Amino acid sequence: MHRIVFAFLTLEQHLLAIRCTPQSYRPDACAHCGCGCLWGHGCYHRKADRSGDAELNPVPIPRFRCPSCRRTCSRLPLAICPRRWYGWALQQQVLLLLIAGASLRRTAAVFALGYHTVRRWWRWLNTSQTFVFHLRSRFAELGRCADSAEFWLTCFGQMPLCQAMAWLDHDGLTVP
Ligand SMILES: [Zn+2]
Repeated sequence: MHRIVFAFLTLEQHLLAIRCTPQSYRPDACAHCGCGCLWGHGCYHRKADRSGDAELNPVPIPRFRCPSCRRTCSRLPLAICPRRWYGWALQQQVLLLLIAGASLRRTAAVFALGYHTVRRWWRWLNTSQTFVFHLRSRFAELGRCADSAEFWLTCFGQMPLCQAMAWLDHDGLTVP
């Protein structure tokens, strides 16, 4: 299911869109049956604000319902990961430091993150061959990269991690 919308890099932009331009989240068609007129189906709420005061929580996530097959779907901005509590921007910074050669322990300390969280993200990046394959297929210039480190450096030079993940989500892959 295509859940990530190619817009709204910050929670503030997302909240403004929910209030002022909610139609920007409406899918063109149902991912299950192709019906072209999904209805707004309210919002569910989740925690997404990792700042110190977390004042934006709970964050509304818009839902839509297909009048034909009756299934519902939700839509996320680039600012929110489908399955991870931390945002893409922080993950990208962490991964860049690791690619540059910093140790897991050092990186965890720099970003005040748990060692196991950083290790999980690093392992994920280095075992995401399916993601690499799909991104290489879509962006020819990424096909020339020799190894994983060069691939992701080139990728991040062209688009932020959130956008790369949105493309994979668009291709039907399950992103974290
Ligand atoms: Zn449907």
